[in-house]
Amino acid sequence: MQSAPATSCVVLLTRDLRVHDHPALDAAVGEAARVVPLFVFDDALLATFGAPNRVAFLLDALADLRHSLASLGGGLVVRRGDTVAETLRVAEATGASRIHLSEDVSAFARSREERLRRAGAERGVSVHAYPGVTVLPPGDLSPGDSGGPYKVFTPYWNRWRATPRRLPLPAPGSIPAVEGVDEGPLPVLGDLTRIRAASNLPEGGEKVARSRLARWLREGLARYAQRRDDLAVAGTSGLSPYLHFGCLSALEVVHRAEAEPGGEAFVRQLCWRDFHHQLLASDPALPMRDFRPRQDRWRDDPDALAAWQEGATGYPVVDAGMRQLLAQGTMHNRARLVTASFLTKHLYLDWRLGAKHFADHLVDGDVANNVGNWQWVAGTGADTRPNRVFNPTRQARRFDPEGAYVRRWVPELEGIDGPDVHEPWLLGHLRPGAYPGPIVDHEEAVRRFREARAG
Ligand code: FAD
Repeated sequence: MQSAPATSCVVLLTRDLRVHDHPALDAAVGEAARVVPLFVFDDALLATFGAPNRVAFLLDALADLRHSLASLGGGLVVRRGDTVAETLRVAEATGASRIHLSEDVSAFARSREERLRRAGAERGVSVHAYPGVTVLPPGDLSPGDSGGPYKVFTPYWNRWRATPRRLPLPAPGSIPAVEGVDEGPLPVLGDLTRIRAASNLPEGGEKVARSRLARWLREGLARYAQRRDDLAVAGTSGLSPYLHFGCLSALEVVHRAEAEPGGEAFVRQLCWRDFHHQLLASDPALPMRDFRPRQDRWRDDPDALAAWQEGATGYPVVDAGMRQLLAQGTMHNRARLVTASFLTKHLYLDWRLGAKHFADHLVDGDVANNVGNWQWVAGTGADTRPNRVFNPTRQARRFDPEGAYVRRWVPELEGIDGPDVHEPWLLGHLRPGAYPGPIVDHEEAVRRFREARAG
């Protein structure tokens, strides 16, 4: 007697663009006779979060994934439109009665999953969510098992590192494809956005990601704690865009790093990533709303905002960071801290303006990490020192002692030796007009901010 044919299963890929350690894909391969990996360019998402730098990286990642899936016997179906409508259309065309996806935390992702469940149920198609975006699923840990999120990092970190985790999954040995489906072409960047991407973006995709991870574990990790704040050297992993798009599984990265010398400091940062994801999961409105309101009445100053965005504040380290962002779609973490503090505290402008500018340019732009860190710096976030102000000059002297980072990004300051580059206006080193004077006085700005916060 013949057994009943198992059904086809659509694996809706979103920001889990890999074949290794992919629980949703692995389960589909284990249970279905035919597997249909699908990616949908969602017009609504492109309109709100489709920064050209990220779209360029995404296109690389999809080309790489299509190649890996093909080498396993499968394929990657690509569509454009509304994710829910397109996914159900593909399910119908391929006779799939199940849809698998990786669970995600943003308001957009949650509403997408919910709409898919409802519309699928009307057509007899079931939707199954799997872990894979974070190391631990966002709702798994709760202080005192209260059901709410952790709001303080250290207890979260202690519990997180003591919690048993699943083991990373290997890539499937093969993927049973559905015959006769039109896979659809991969668009090019110009089809998706009219704005040009930055040059020198990192190449996207799982293949590059895995080789970068291997090199990082071999050559960089051991000195991470000593070098991670050093602005002028490449002392961090550079893996954030690969983690954002899921070209690497965060769980696998932790698994491979934690046993290595120097692994703990690095794994702690990946725990911060989980921490911000569990906060966003508990309150999808966080991109708009202060986690801890401070009764701020932010100033309205378009000229100051423009100077900050362009890297023309007259504070060299701030300008270097902002120019690196425009040129490369990334910024060193220490510079992110200093520039974000400058916007929210020296200029006393709303953190949402800064988060939007970052999201418009960062190739690793990620709702949970971007908003969580912006709120942390602005003092409205979780586990923050609300009135702390980073002194840009002191930060620069400490983390760019020779001025190499600043000189790299602010060529007007070339020729000023050593740390003097951090205070060019004080030392009278500059020709008038060669570089802007400071748009705000440090002491006055700090006073204005402290008075505003004091209410
Ligand atoms: P590494 O130092 O090698 O760290 C390894 C990984 O840990 C990173 O790839 C990242 O996934 C995670 N990580 C490191 N630091 C943090 C952190 N503070 N919070 C959460 N996760 C962290 N990171 C993003 O991925 N996307 C963002 O949109 C983003 N916006 C930020 C905005 C501001 C204002 C600030 C202060 C930080 C922001 N970060 C963001 C966090 C951090 O700056 C970047 O993750 C880091 O610079 C990426 O470089 P890396 O991969 O070399 O990091």
